[in-house]
Amino acid sequence: MTRRFELDELIRSDNFIDGRWTPASHGARFAVTDPATGNTIAQVADSSEADARAATDAAARAFPGWRDTLPKERAAILRRWHDLIVANQETLGALISLEQGKPLAEGRGEVAYGASYVAWFAEEATRIYGDIIPQQQRGKRMMAVKEPIGIVAAITPWNFPLAMIARKIAPALATGCTVVAKPAEDTPLTASALVMLAHEAGVPAGVLNLITASREHAVATVADWLHDARVRKITFTGSTAVGKYLARESAETLKKLSLELGGNAPFIVFDDADLDAAVTGLLASKFRNGGQTCVCPNRVYVQAGVYERFAALLGERVAALKVAPATDPDAQIGPMINTRAVDKIARHVDDALTHGARIVTGGKRLTELGPHYYAPTVLADAKPNMLLNAEETFGPVVPLFRFESEAEAVAAANNTSFGLASYFYSENAKRIDRVSQALEAGIVGINEGAVASEAAPFGGVKDSGYGREGSRYGLDDYLSIKYLCQGNLA
Ligand code: ADP
Repeated sequence: MTRRFELDELIRSDNFIDGRWTPASHGARFAVTDPATGNTIAQVADSSEADARAATDAAARAFPGWRDTLPKERAAILRRWHDLIVANQETLGALISLEQGKPLAEGRGEVAYGASYVAWFAEEATRIYGDIIPQQQRGKRMMAVKEPIGIVAAITPWNFPLAMIARKIAPALATGCTVVAKPAEDTPLTASALVMLAHEAGVPAGVLNLITASREHAVATVADWLHDARVRKITFTGSTAVGKYLARESAETLKKLSLELGGNAPFIVFDDADLDAAVTGLLASKFRNGGQTCVCPNRVYVQAGVYERFAALLGERVAALKVAPATDPDAQIGPMINTRAVDKIARHVDDALTHGARIVTGGKRLTELGPHYYAPTVLADAKPNMLLNAEETFGPVVPLFRFESEAEAVAAANNTSFGLASYFYSENAKRIDRVSQALEAGIVGINEGAVASEAAPFGGVKDSGYGREGSRYGLDDYLSIKYLCQGNLA
C-alpha cells in the first residue's frame, strides 16, 4: 500500500544528506513565505560551503554502489517513487500552491506532470543500449558502452518547484548517477517533500542529497560544487545570466552542463489561422502559472488582416480570467512569486504605455488582493523599442505586435538572443513547413499552445542554453560513452 502523508509531515526544514535530515552546519535558517500573503510558512536550513561539501562527500561514497545496481532495480525504485508522488498528489499540489502561489488545479497538474518524468525514466533506465560496432579488422572487436557520468549537481528555479527537480533527478538516478541538489530559495519545501518520498521509495542513503540556501548563501554553496572535480555534471534551469556564470565558473573542472535558460517566445498568428484555436492556444500557453514559465509566449505577432479581431477576441477572454489566491477553487491566476517579479511586470507595462501601447484589458496591479497580484493584460500596438520586446516579462502580459508579411514576422520572431519555445498558427500547409524550419528555437508549437511532455525533448538554442530534458534523448546528458577495443582475438 502506497503511503499518504499529511501536509505537515511533508514539510521539512532541514537538509537531506546521506539519508538523514540535518540542520545547516552553522545552524542558520531563512524564511519561506506564502506569496499570496507574505506570511512565513517555515524556516529552512540556510546552508554553507560545508554543507555542500558534506552532500558531495555522501554522493561520492554512494556512487560506486548505485552505479553497480541493475537497471531494473533502479527502475523499480523510480516506479515506487512515482507511485508515492501520485498517491500524494493532493498534498503535494497544495504545498506547491502554498509556497509558489499557483492555483490549486495547476499545483495538482504540476504533480502529475513531474511524476510523468519519473515514470518515463523508470522505463528508460532499462533501455540504455550501447553499440557493437561492425568489425573493421579481423581479430578485433569494438564496442561502445554507456556509463553514468558520476555526481550530478541539480540547481532549479521556483516556477515549477516539483517538475523541474523531478525531471533532473529521475534521469540521473535512472542512469546510475548520484545527485546533489539545491532548489530555489523561494520554493524549497516541495523539493524537500519530493526527496523525502524518494527516500521512502527506497533510494539508498547518499544517492540523493538536497541542501537549501538563501539567495545570499546560494552563491558560495553552489560554488563549492562548481569547483569540486568530483561533481561531473551540472544540470540547471534558470536565468541566462546565472547559466553563463555556472558555465564560466565550472570551466576549470570541465563538467558536462545542461542549461535550460530564459526564453523570449514568439507566438505568430497568420491571416490564415483558425482564430479561435489561436486564442485558446495563446491563453493556454501564456497564462499557465500566471505567465511565469520559460515557454510562455512573450511577443505575440498578429498579421494585419486579423489584428483587430484577434485583439478583441483575446481581450474578452483575458478579461474573464479569475485572479485570486491559490486557495480559491475558481482561481485561474494567482499572485506573482515576489515583489521583484511584480515590479518588473509593472515596469514593462509602464514602459510600453510610454512608447505608445494601448491597453485592451488589464494594465494594473491588483493591490486589493495583496502585494503580488497583477491583472491579466493585453496591450495593442506593441513596438520593438519597448522593454517587453527584448526581455522576458514573466507575467500575465500579452503585447500584440502587428505585421504584414511572413518574412517580416519570421525575422522579428528570430530577432532575439533567445531560442527556447516558439509558436505559430496557420492553416496553410506550405507555410507551416516553411515557418517550422525558419524559426530559431528548440521547440515549435504548430497550431498548439501546450507543448511540454515527458516524451518530448525539451530545451533551447542560442541564449536559451543546451541539453535536452525528457524523451529518449533525456538520458544522454547523464551518460558518457566508453569505447572498448578488444584485440588479439583471431
Ligand atoms: P530567477 O531569476 O528565476 O530566480 P535564477 O537564475 O536567478 O532565476 O535562479 C535559478 C536558480 O539558480 C535558483 O536555485 C537560485 O538560487 C540559483 N542561483 C541564482 N544565482 C546563483 C549564483 N550566482 N550561483 C549559484 N546559484 C544561483
